[in-house]
Amino acid sequence: MDVAARVARPVSAGTVLLGVDVGGTTTAVGAVTAEGEVLVDRLAPTHTAGPGRALETIVGLIESVGEAARRLGRPPHAVGVGVPGPVDTAAGRVGEHVPHVPELAGRPLAAELRARLGLPAFVDNDVNALALGEWMFGVGRGARSLVVLAPGTGFGAGIVLDGRLVRGVAGFGGELGHTPVKFDGPPCWCGGRGCLALYASGRGIAEAARARVAGHADAPLLRAAGGDPLAITAALVFERAAAGEPVAAAVVDEACRALGAVLGTVVNGLNPEVVVITGGVAASLAALEARILRAAGEYAFARALATTRVAIVPGDKRTSMRGAAALALYELGRGAAPERAG
Ligand SMILES: [Zn+2]
Repeated sequence: MDVAARVARPVSAGTVLLGVDVGGTTTAVGAVTAEGEVLVDRLAPTHTAGPGRALETIVGLIESVGEAARRLGRPPHAVGVGVPGPVDTAAGRVGEHVPHVPELAGRPLAAELRARLGLPAFVDNDVNALALGEWMFGVGRGARSLVVLAPGTGFGAGIVLDGRLVRGVAGFGGELGHTPVKFDGPPCWCGGRGCLALYASGRGIAEAARARVAGHADAPLLRAAGGDPLAITAALVFERAAAGEPVAAAVVDEACRALGAVLGTVVNGLNPEVVVITGGVAASLAALEARILRAAGEYAFARALATTRVAIVPGDKRTSMRGAAALALYELGRGAAPERAG
């Protein structure tokens, strides 16, 4: 089904949206068509202008990409922005928990961008935007329901059910990275304990590996990191596990089982048509798909798991820009007032 047929109030073919992915490190802006084609894109370090000045970089990139699109005769119709943290979408306001871009905390970003750019602007959590992007343009295209699990540094997730993004009453809908997989597990940085993120996010995997080698100067994993615990990254853990190093293999085994448990929760609880596993860690997980599905099989109803398609899709900045553009398209389609998109 094409996008124009799926949104409640169709936009015309070829409509251009500006998709903005605000990351802790890099911000990417793309001029994206309603069919998901990226016409122009620009990237810059989020803090190019210095600490506390991310908004200048974001606005500068948006203006530059918007101008380039206009020169192509394809003026943008709206702006969609994904930010790394919960968002009060009804107010278009970024929540208080955006540790990587703290200057955005509490800002009425949608209204500010609308005033500065003269375009409708919509803001949501980056993985909610990613879920809309996978649903409109990606492997979930044509599905009625889709769940995105996105292990990166942290662990984001997004849910589309029966054609609607599940935001929850306060913007926490879809925070599956912080569902417990061990009810008596260790404390998580979110304030909970035993969360999926502790076992299967980039930060969680690296910290779990560091904890296992602490006090063992001759541990092969530590030696592979040049003796510096902080040089143990999730990517290194996966690499050493594939080479048969037992400590790394144990950490990766826990990651697969934790992902399997949450896949079981998702499949039994929602039985979506598609689950997409993406994010920075997905590239390392692709080779482990069979193990993850086997682990999910220990928890999920067999028939439910068999009817849900699971795809591991390593993402990139273009995917994120398409997601943010999909957010704008979704809100325009719902006829949402720019600052009242709830
Ligand atoms: Zn947590």
